[in-house]
Amino acid sequence: MFKKVDTKQSFPQMEEEVLKYWNENKIFEESVDHRKKAKKYVFFDGPPFANGLPHYGHILANVLKDSVTRYWTMKGFYVPRTNGWDCHGLPVEYEIEKELNLSARKDILNYGVENFNSKCRESVFRYTKEWEGTLKRIGRWVDFSDSYATLDNTYMETIWWIFKQIWDKKLVYSGFKSMHICPRCETPLSNFEVSQGYKDVTDLSGTFKFKLRDDALKAIKAEGEDVFVLAWTTTPWTLPGNTALAFGKSVQYVKVRGKDVDGNEQVYILAEALLESVLGKDNYVVLGKIDQKKLVGKHYEPLFDYYLDKNVEGELYSIQLGDFVTTEDGTGVVHIAPMFGEDDYNIGKEKGLGMIQHVKMDGTFTEDVKDFAGKFVKGQDLNVALFLHEKGLLFSKQNFKHSYPHCWRCDTPLLNYSTRSLFIEVTKIKDKMLKNNKKIHWQPEHIQEGRFGKWLEGARDWAISRNRFWGCAIPVLECDFGKQIFL
Ligand SMILES: [Zn+2]
Repeated sequence: MFKKVDTKQSFPQMEEEVLKYWNENKIFEESVDHRKKAKKYVFFDGPPFANGLPHYGHILANVLKDSVTRYWTMKGFYVPRTNGWDCHGLPVEYEIEKELNLSARKDILNYGVENFNSKCRESVFRYTKEWEGTLKRIGRWVDFSDSYATLDNTYMETIWWIFKQIWDKKLVYSGFKSMHICPRCETPLSNFEVSQGYKDVTDLSGTFKFKLRDDALKAIKAEGEDVFVLAWTTTPWTLPGNTALAFGKSVQYVKVRGKDVDGNEQVYILAEALLESVLGKDNYVVLGKIDQKKLVGKHYEPLFDYYLDKNVEGELYSIQLGDFVTTEDGTGVVHIAPMFGEDDYNIGKEKGLGMIQHVKMDGTFTEDVKDFAGKFVKGQDLNVALFLHEKGLLFSKQNFKHSYPHCWRCDTPLLNYSTRSLFIEVTKIKDKMLKNNKKIHWQPEHIQEGRFGKWLEGARDWAISRNRFWGCAIPVLECDFGKQIFL
């Protein structure tokens, strides 16, 4: 009547038996072939890197992916699925650099790009057997017999084909734009990569004194006086690249007498709204209001004299107006280093300011910056501040806690840096993407308007150039006059 079930079951053993049955009877293959004439369901699956072992995160994602494809199979769809291996990019290079004990771009160049790339090539299939074993064990149904790899020529040709479609739509341009670079990896990162690595850190911030020159003094009827504009920065290492000061259009500025870090009394210009936070309560005497429009195009003395005799193209050390200047923090005056920051670059281009690049892509000061040449910029903030203190140009300094982006791969603090790259003009097709996003069935639902929707709304042009070695090369040639040819 009733069959007794043995209460002492071994689940792992049951699993093995089921897998064996599936394998021997080719159940997965059957489930796909059987539906060949049915409507196709296409599942886009991001392949894993097999240069490392699978971990819990991979297993979870694979179970979810498998559930989706099985569900559509059970609904009667034809759902072929092929396994693939991701082979290119920074994750692979980073592992090899660690293995070979290389710590910078120049180490790779010394080691030889060809040697380095063959090490990368060897590593990408290192754990495919382990991956296959794990994926099979969790019951992932996918065809391993026909695995593809992103380093296959056929795969790279597909990338080229896709790039060509974008190129033909005139959505590719070569630009010089402010973006985040990782000084260790010596490559720009995409906005998406940057958003992965924000961390709260404490940096040194400082308020510095920019002495007005005669033309500026004359404009505010202060001939013969010593007057300093105060500007605050959280990145003192950018100061040698400063070429302008930006005042807000509708901010009220004042001239005051106040004391600096050493107790010296001097005359300063800053936003009225920030008097107390910068100078301290009852610690200053207001001498009068300043009309910043009169100062536009007038000059100040640079904090550093490195570029005075260098014939830098463009306007140097002038006062400008910027829409982005607020009185939220600082002094209401923004120090502009056009090669370091988006607002800085834009105003630099718009007003024809000098574009000084005083930092190399590996994050060290160039030879021009003779007092700090060769030193890594992050970590020199205090030294820059002390150097300027010696010269009497430091007003005050304090520690400042803020959210700062780091390389998602190697954890190095990123630099906001203007460099050349190919861009895909995402902003041109943003409306279309937002419209299409409304048609997508999101699970969970809030992602649609939330995380993904917000990301799309803020989408910017996509910097696709990577100054690296192991990847799919895009065959774009550029002549000296900036014209590009897609081969
Ligand atoms: Zn990095």
